[in-house]
Amino acid sequence: MNTSTRLHQERLERARAELLQRIAQERGGRVSRVDMAAEHDVRDFENRAQAISERDDEFAMNEHETAELGALDAALERLAADLYGTCKDCGVHIPEARLAAYPAALRCIDCQTTSEAPVGSNRSR
Ligand SMILES: [Zn+2]
Repeated sequence: MNTSTRLHQERLERARAELLQRIAQERGGRVSRVDMAAEHDVRDFENRAQAISERDDEFAMNEHETAELGALDAALERLAADLYGTCKDCGVHIPEARLAAYPAALRCIDCQTTSEAPVGSNRSR
């Protein structure tokens, strides 16, 4: 294993550990707060609705974090396969600065922009 591979692995594993810690903290903090509110206002319909909508927000956030975790796992798999740092779509070398800013990056900036663009957005009128 060469030096930059080890650096990439350490960075990915650190990002993954931080993400897991953040998920645990947010789940612990938010769920207990919402549960407490629901218990206190159990006869108050509006507050109960509010507590339910806070739960929905939490699910949305967890989905986002689950996706982030999946991206980090995918990046670790690519690292093991010696493909990390190479664009998934076009195969160019992903700049180190991009990997430092976003360790789970699987694509170069050009391909990422293309894959995130809404369908038909670059069509001329
Ligand atoms: Zn690319």
